[in-house]
Amino acid sequence: MHKEKGIPMTHWEKTSCGLCLQCCGLEVLVENNRIVKVRPDKDNPRSRAYVCRKGLKIAHLQHNSQRLNYPMGKKNGQLERLTWDRALTEICSRLGDILEKHRTGWSFCPRVSVWILKDRLLGLTSMN
Ligand code: SF4
Repeated sequence: MHKEKGIPMTHWEKTSCGLCLQCCGLEVLVENNRIVKVRPDKDNPRSRAYVCRKGLKIAHLQHNSQRLNYPMGKKNGQLERLTWDRALTEICSRLGDILEKHRTGWSFCPRVSVWILKDRLLGLTSMN
C-alpha cells in the first residue's frame, strides 16, 4: 500500500456536505488527494444515510478548475488575491455593520452566520 504522511493513498473519509443547511453526512473515497466516489454516511445521526443528487456530485465542485481557492477582492476595478487575514477582517467589519443595522428581530444561529459570511465573502468581490 502506498502511503503519504501515514495516510493511505486511497481511503474513505467521513465529512459533511456544505451545499445547504442540512449538512448531510458523507463518506468520500479519496485517491491521490482527490475525491473519486461519494456515498451517504449511514452512521450520521442527522442525515441517516440520506444524500441528495447535489451531494453525490460534490467532487465536481471540489475539483472544479474555476473554484476559488483563496479570497479575492477588487481594487481599482481589478480582482486581486487577498490574504485570509485581510478577507476575514473585511468580513468581520461588514458583518458587524449588518448586525448593527439589523440588530432588532435577529435570532442568531451559527449556521446562519456561515451563510452570511459566504454572502459577505462574495460581496468582497464588489469592494472598491
Ligand atoms: S446532500 Fe443535498 S440535502 Fe444534503 S446537505 Fe448536501 S445539498 Fe443539502
